[in-house]
Amino acid sequence: MKKHNFYAGPAILPAPVLSQAAQAVQEFVGSGLSILEVSHRSAGFVAVLEEIESLVKELFNIGSDHKVMFLTGGASSQFYMSAMNLLASNESAAFLDTGAWSTKSIKEAKLFGNVNVVASSSDKNYNYIPKGYSIPEDSKYLHLTSNNTIFGTQIHSWPDTKVPFVCDMSSDIFSRSIDINKFSLIYAGAQKNTGPAGVTLAIVREDLLGKTERQIPTMLDYRTHIAKKSSFNTPPVYPIYVSMLTLRWLKDLGGISVIESKNNEKAKLIYDEIDRNPLFKGAAETEDRSLMNVTFVMEDDTLNDAFLAAAGEAGCIGIKGHRSVGGFRASIYNAMPKDSVQVLVDVMKEFERKA
Ligand SMILES: *Cc1c(COP(=O)(O)O)cnc(C)c1O
Repeated sequence: MKKHNFYAGPAILPAPVLSQAAQAVQEFVGSGLSILEVSHRSAGFVAVLEEIESLVKELFNIGSDHKVMFLTGGASSQFYMSAMNLLASNESAAFLDTGAWSTKSIKEAKLFGNVNVVASSSDKNYNYIPKGYSIPEDSKYLHLTSNNTIFGTQIHSWPDTKVPFVCDMSSDIFSRSIDINKFSLIYAGAQKNTGPAGVTLAIVREDLLGKTERQIPTMLDYRTHIAKKSSFNTPPVYPIYVSMLTLRWLKDLGGISVIESKNNEKAKLIYDEIDRNPLFKGAAETEDRSLMNVTFVMEDDTLNDAFLAAAGEAGCIGIKGHRSVGGFRASIYNAMPKDSVQVLVDVMKEFERKA
């Protein structure tokens, strides 16, 4: 039986994408080769790169100011690459600390310039998004983590400032509409909401590059990957292909506005049950709840194992909470069908009935 995959990442992919991906392992569109065997410089794969780039641009309404790159090294490499490429050693960048991923980005950026942590929710184990903090106007950028995958919080209203954003969108990219003009840089590891592990998407405003007076190794310089269309070295061919299929699926569904309303419906379904069912309570502050990673705990945590087992029997896997939060986390990314969320909600109801 196919499971309902609630893992945080690597995560669920759309069923039709998986069958197309499987087919391409057998033969990549009439090439007589597996996608695993084709050259990254073959016409067939160059067309894939072109298609995924135009899909990203179309889904986010990206104009010619921003360039799209497909990189390796995960979002974790972007913690330093972003600062290395955008922040001169005598400049300051503002950081909002909303969890473990933000903390890591802060640590790496300090290697390259001045880091100013404008607010942090570490006082409450990151169960909320700080608000009402001030951002120095001379900040080169404000670094944000749009969705805290671990605690299950999400930025729902972007800070009101002229300072442009650098944003780690690993766990909610393509889940909702954004105003691309506010962002100097967006980066995201593919394995949460875009595709398999192995490729990292970066979208950068090109006119900001080359201003740090720093020597940057060729592979770490965004300009290299823009100029060489993500093929300076061998890119991760298969993860890029599968990510392209996912974005095609998203476009065919109707694009970001359609997935955004589906995501709202799915999140409402499970949060309503968390709020109704006396056995459970939400872990994050209500107004900052993530629409992607739903965290919750049991009022009586001696029942945790029994609930996990009941969920497992219904085919719901990956809902054990992160060790730093405890309880449960249901990741309901773009590819998660509402029916699967309903299965989990039914387990919660049934567990209450039997308790
Ligand atoms: C998973 C995750 C990362 C780490 O991504 P890697 O690709 O494993 O380096 C960074 N930021 C956020 C918000 C994440 O969810």
